[in-house]
Amino acid sequence: MPLPLLRDLFKRLDPQNPVASAGARPYPAARPQSGSKAPAVTPTMLDINGRPVALEVRVSPRARRMLLRVDHKREVVVLTLPRAASQREGLRFALGQTAWIAARLAALPPRTSLAPGAVVPILGMEHLVRHRPDARGTVWLEEGEIHVAGGIEFLPRRLSDYLRRRARQEIAARVAVHAAHVTKPVKGITVRDTASRWGSCSPTGGLSFSWRLVLAPAAVLDYVVAHEVAHLAHFDHSPHFWGLVGEMIDDVEGPRRWLRDHGAALHRFG
Ligand SMILES: [Zn+2]
Repeated sequence: MPLPLLRDLFKRLDPQNPVASAGARPYPAARPQSGSKAPAVTPTMLDINGRPVALEVRVSPRARRMLLRVDHKREVVVLTLPRAASQREGLRFALGQTAWIAARLAALPPRTSLAPGAVVPILGMEHLVRHRPDARGTVWLEEGEIHVAGGIEFLPRRLSDYLRRRARQEIAARVAVHAAHVTKPVKGITVRDTASRWGSCSPTGGLSFSWRLVLAPAAVLDYVVAHEVAHLAHFDHSPHFWGLVGEMIDDVEGPRRWLRDHGAALHRFG
């Protein structure tokens, strides 16, 4: 599937979810015992093989049927309801899909913390993370390793900042190259941590990308950048659009397949 456009991104990034926060019906098994000292339980929790998994309910005017997905990054279940469906119907639907949810959770790639000893890819090349408490500087690459100076407590943040900075540099450089193929100017580049969209293009020419693309092979990052820049000329996924992407990069299908097969794994870092 082609990458969705900005309207999807904005909709998904909306931090307020009035439906879920307005008190979705609690799943009976997760309701705290009255009088117990147990901490408050999230309003809606699913019991997946004995493991509590949060269920987020969203109402979408564009949804035509109930949709369930597992958010790979946060390990929560997201239920999207059309306006016509009730919370109760949605919950019943979700409860009927626990085997599917369990299988999706079990299939998640392993999680990698940004910590010493971790192996983190940069443009697809694996790098071992090394802590250099006594060294000067902040973060640098050395013989296939990422060296991080300073206190151990700052390491995850320093490494994360470095990766985002590097992502911005790589993306900006590729945008500059591909922008030569279109007449509409780029109005700005945003790099953020998106949950399910690798990139987007706004009608006014603003481009947005996931910093996690810097973890992927260079050809994959290049494809996503070409895709979004091509939207400056064609705000659709027409044959003209794909023709332009094909003029910008040699291989379109390879990176698309890579994202389909391995994209979820990029969300398991940090
Ligand atoms: Zn697109």
